Amino acid sequence: MAGATPRLDGQVVLAVFAHPDDESLACGGTLARLADLGASVVVMCASHGERGSDAGPVRDDDLGRARALEMRAAARALGISEVQLFAHPDGELRWAEVTLFNAEILLFIRQRRPSAVITFGEDGLYWHPDHIGVYERVLTAVKSLGDDAPPLYFVTMPTGVMPEIVQSAVARGWAPPAKGFWSITPESFGLLAEPHTMAIDVADAVPRKLSGILAHGTQMGTGHPFSDLSPVDARRWLGREYFRRADIPCRPDRILEDLCT
Ligand SMILES: [Zn+2]
Repeated sequence: MAGATPRLDGQVVLAVFAHPDDESLACGGTLARLADLGASVVVMCASHGERGSDAGPVRDDDLGRARALEMRAAARALGISEVQLFAHPDGELRWAEVTLFNAEILLFIRQRRPSAVITFGEDGLYWHPDHIGVYERVLTAVKSLGDDAPPLYFVTMPTGVMPEIVQSAVARGWAPPAKGFWSITPESFGLLAEPHTMAIDVADAVPRKLSGILAHGTQMGTGHPFSDLSPVDARRWLGREYFRRADIPCRPDRILEDLCT
């Protein structure tokens, strides 16, 4: 069929994030679309998210174990074929075990030769130090490969999306917890981020993206803004994902660009 997105059988896509749930929130729709096309989608998650917020009924010392299970459930929802879950210390990713995590990323890229690598941008979606640490590790590792590096894509989120989701939930009667929405303000999502250069339509994957997000139950909680999004609102707010290709030497693969057509 003319203009159809090419199949990706045999190709590997690597997504590197900091905590279980980052993958679904940041680009779950794109990961699902890549899997639909036959790519092996692998998520490297730097930590178990053991210091995450809103543990609900889970004891604090069990949170990392609970979130590991949630990560695997989200992977099933999105068609992610492999999760590599590391135990770098949640909350300290920017400065702890820097050399080790860099080596782990490099080893994966050398062994599996992904056609694309996806991670956070400089802004870490909302200036989360762990996210910025992952951005730094991935950029350093990919750049070190020179012309043989895979293309690197930074995921971003436009400002306005998260405040709208929260305002909509408040209008439906949701009361933000006293310590805030994941202890952050919704306005900080996308704030002062470098502009995206690519938008990928993931409307058809929104139900799976939302399932991925909600699989992280310890972080979402009952009545969370995402928990009762209407299908129309979910499609409006979660139906496009935004990226910028790193301006560094790399191989000429363009599989994410092909998803934009
Ligand atoms: Zn995170």
